[in-house]
Amino acid sequence: MDMNTTTPGSRILPAGDAALSAARDALAAGEIVAIPTETVYGLAADATNGEAVARIFAAKQRPSFNPLICHVTGIEMAESFAAFDPLSRRLAEAFWPGALTLVLPLKPGHAIHPLVTAGLDTVAVRAPKGFGAELIATLGRPLAAPSANRSGKISATTARAVADSLGEAAPLVIDGGPTPVGVESTIVKVEDGAIFLLRPGGVAAEEIEAAAGMPLRRAEANAAIQAPGMLASHYAPAARMRLNAGHVAPGEALLAFGLERIAGAETAKAVLVLSETGDLVEAAAKLFDYMGRLDATGAECIAVEQIPATGLGEAINDRLARAAAPRTIESGEDA
Ligand code: AMP
Ligand code: MG
Repeated sequence: MDMNTTTPGSRILPAGDAALSAARDALAAGEIVAIPTETVYGLAADATNGEAVARIFAAKQRPSFNPLICHVTGIEMAESFAAFDPLSRRLAEAFWPGALTLVLPLKPGHAIHPLVTAGLDTVAVRAPKGFGAELIATLGRPLAAPSANRSGKISATTARAVADSLGEAAPLVIDGGPTPVGVESTIVKVEDGAIFLLRPGGVAAEEIEAAAGMPLRRAEANAAIQAPGMLASHYAPAARMRLNAGHVAPGEALLAFGLERIAGAETAKAVLVLSETGDLVEAAAKLFDYMGRLDATGAECIAVEQIPATGLGEAINDRLARAAAPRTIESGEDA
């Protein structure tokens, strides 16, 4: 196909049937694909596959695991994992597909990987237009996707900008032309019959107010909603956490990494190894689950072996540091 262009590291395919099946195959195999949406280009992964989602953070070089938006075909797919109340349903009916993201409670037994939500019990969901919508329908699963650019850089609105920003970190880029909206989606959260604006974006606040028949409230009113996962001790385990441990103390559980165990590991209440082979992608995908499982043993403290600070290790260590932070201030908070 001579329309395909190649930059070092990324293959750019024009949006169409060939791109659709190439993207679907890559996503089904746990790879990441940069795709056009009507807002900005997204770096997408199967939202139910933890290692695939971890690869998004690695590619963007994100230093922390902030929650990602889950992209769906519409309300029906969203309902397989998230709960709508009448007001959030009205907003979805009014604006989907489109540039409005709703933060909704997760349903019990949902299949969304905890890396997508940074371990929160809510999920940000939106139905995009165009190629992204077709791709999700073809794959039959929701896609987690932040903007397709290196962390801290501006969002990409062309395939070229994606390839320039991510290079070989985005091996497959689908070119759907410049994105029509050009800014990120608007994010709102419905709570107790009120709508909080968490992030302004492609749908104007006035349009949402007109559809809902009520004024939007600004997120500053609720700092815990505004900054999910960013509070030092958000979703800390009940157990204390002891990082970079050199030994296991009596009664502690152990969160381990790599082939070798620290002294006293054989006496630990429980041991879970994030990755025997020292693979940070595997470790990131297991992090939330393993923290929760060790917490559930009732151990009063979880010792954590040293984890390298390179690549995804930075985000892993950031999350561990939050879990280990003193938690007097936010202990009553419940976002
Ligand atoms: P990005 O994927 O880079 O467009 O950013 C996603 C945005 O959605 C971030 O600002 C997140 O803080 C926000 N977000 C994602 N999930 C949630 C959630 N469960 N609650 C509140 N905000 C969320
Ligand atoms: Mg972004």
